[in-house]
Amino acid sequence: MKKGILLVVSAPSAGGKGTILKELFQQNETLRMSVSATTRQPRPGEVDGKDYYFVSRETFQQWVDTGSMLEHAEYVGNCYGTPKAPVEEWLNQGLDVVLEIDVQGGSQIKNLAPDCVSVFITPPTMEVLEKRLRDRGTEDEETICKRLATARQELTFAEGYDYIVINDKLEDAVEDMQAILRSEKRKSARNPGFIQRVLNI
Ligand code: 5GP
Repeated sequence: MKKGILLVVSAPSAGGKGTILKELFQQNETLRMSVSATTRQPRPGEVDGKDYYFVSRETFQQWVDTGSMLEHAEYVGNCYGTPKAPVEEWLNQGLDVVLEIDVQGGSQIKNLAPDCVSVFITPPTMEVLEKRLRDRGTEDEETICKRLATARQELTFAEGYDYIVINDKLEDAVEDMQAILRSEKRKSARNPGFIQRVLNI
């Protein structure tokens, strides 16, 4: 069976990737979202097992030590990682999987799975990003400042990604993501044996 596409999506915190991905999922039945593990506290409304697996540092370290994580990284004082088993299972079933991870995780996945597709979603300007982060109202001033400094650093990694999508108008960003996914599915390298089947040989 043809393996699914591993789609790595990175964006600075509050870069709007959640909204874009939500739309993308509504338009693609074969897309699956990897649920990460994190040691950070849940934000209001976040659900354990849906938004993240909220775990203690001990549990997180145990998962790392037993090789259960595909990648992991520390981000603004908390640990984040991708549980390996569901991702492998879905890809083997021919389903496409989205990893919404930071740039450190993104580069680990690129090394591990060079045929993954990486997309960096960027805000149009830093001012827009700061406004979104403040409007969200979930972080204190110190965390906002840390996340903005981290975002500046993260943006310098964007050029290492296969694609850059600008999150200015939501519909345009979703359309770009959809176009990327469609084009990647049409790559000849992702369709081995297809022409032989057309030729019936
Ligand atoms: P937040 O705390 O805002 O939900 O996420 C902070 C950062 O951690 C974001 O850049 C997000 O993409 C990243 N992140 C979430 N899950 C993972 C993961 O499993 N691995 C890595 N490396 N980063 C993650």
